[in-house]
Amino acid sequence: MEKQLQLFDPMIIRKDFPVLSQKVNNQPLVYFDNAATTQKPQIVVDALTNYYQNYNANVHRGVHHLSQVATAAFEESRDTIRRYINAAYTHEIILTRGSTESINLVASTWGRQNVKEGDEILITELEHHSNIVPWQMLCEEKKARLRVIPINDDGSLNIDAFHNLLNSKTKLLAITHVSNSLGTVIPLKEIISAAHSNNTLVLVDGAQALSHLKVDVIDLDCDFYAFSAHKVYGPMGIGGLYGKEKLLNEMPPYQGGGEMISTVSFEKTVYNELPFKFEAGTPNAGGTIAFASALNYLKGLGIDAIEAYEKELLDYATQRLLEKSNIRIVGTAPGKAAIISFLIDKIHPYDAGTILDQMGIAVRTGNHCTQPLMQRFGIQGTIRASLAFYNTKSEIDSLINGISKVEELFL
Ligand code: PLP
Repeated sequence: MEKQLQLFDPMIIRKDFPVLSQKVNNQPLVYFDNAATTQKPQIVVDALTNYYQNYNANVHRGVHHLSQVATAAFEESRDTIRRYINAAYTHEIILTRGSTESINLVASTWGRQNVKEGDEILITELEHHSNIVPWQMLCEEKKARLRVIPINDDGSLNIDAFHNLLNSKTKLLAITHVSNSLGTVIPLKEIISAAHSNNTLVLVDGAQALSHLKVDVIDLDCDFYAFSAHKVYGPMGIGGLYGKEKLLNEMPPYQGGGEMISTVSFEKTVYNELPFKFEAGTPNAGGTIAFASALNYLKGLGIDAIEAYEKELLDYATQRLLEKSNIRIVGTAPGKAAIISFLIDKIHPYDAGTILDQMGIAVRTGNHCTQPLMQRFGIQGTIRASLAFYNTKSEIDSLINGISKVEELFL
């Protein structure tokens, strides 16, 4: 452990993130909004700049030098993403704009093809709107039924209820890996295995998982896994969908256009092979390359070391918050990731967030795109501090001081 902590010095790591060294409202910035988006290390910014400065070209289409360099870097990046989540084949990685688009892709293609009237799709109370609304839309269109697995009071999944809800009509389970609001980590292996025994496919919303945990899609045996680069220290506007080869091959295309075709005539179009069948139009090549550099950066730090350090931070933050009598933490599931939702007495989260911002502390306030989850707890929203490996205990102390100031003003 000592060796690990020695290796993992957040003060050294912070130097890789220039954005963190600024002042906000004359105070050192404390960035605790990592579940909304993570900051980018210089190496990612450089990868993006380097692409546009030195080899920007449309990929796959040109015989000329720049196009070939860009295509090679783009496809190599796809393979870096594959390796990071341990998918079997590079063509199982479909590049999208992010988790939201990945989930919509599956709902629009696999869903439209396979879900029929009377079928059921299972989600959980923890889901982000991105993993609720596409299924609601599909169910409406197909006259299928959306069913919801309840959670326990600590924010963990009610496993008995899950088993009871699974039945012969359950076509798909769409479930988060890590809750963006509560930090709950779902025991996916157990759940996926039970779903598969019931012939139910599983889509995992991994938006919050890649930054905190080791993800291995083969070990999980999930059928689809959605993710966003910007949640994992990469750029915005790029992300991916992992899908099992067989399923992806059987699914119809998502959007029509260039790239996704093999031949086109006015009478008939033959679609391209995987992964291009699902990637209509010019892709975000620079973003993909920068995404791969973010994953390489994380690999360099070591996801195990990141997990260990973030756990230490989470434990410290939880302990410091609970020293205060007015704090209620929402979501205390064992083994949760470094995301803490809380309330300060009856103070409106927006008021607290505004005062904290004046002290340079960036937290998120509101429902975190999980309105049904907030309803489950009978609250409008929370204050959320979502931590990253570049955060420090001294920043947590600043948050605690900030909360004292909020209490002084509002209680
Ligand atoms: N799912 C979860 C759990 C999330 O936290 C988010 C973003 O906050 C999303 C999906 C949507 O991700 P994106 O906006 O990158 O598509």
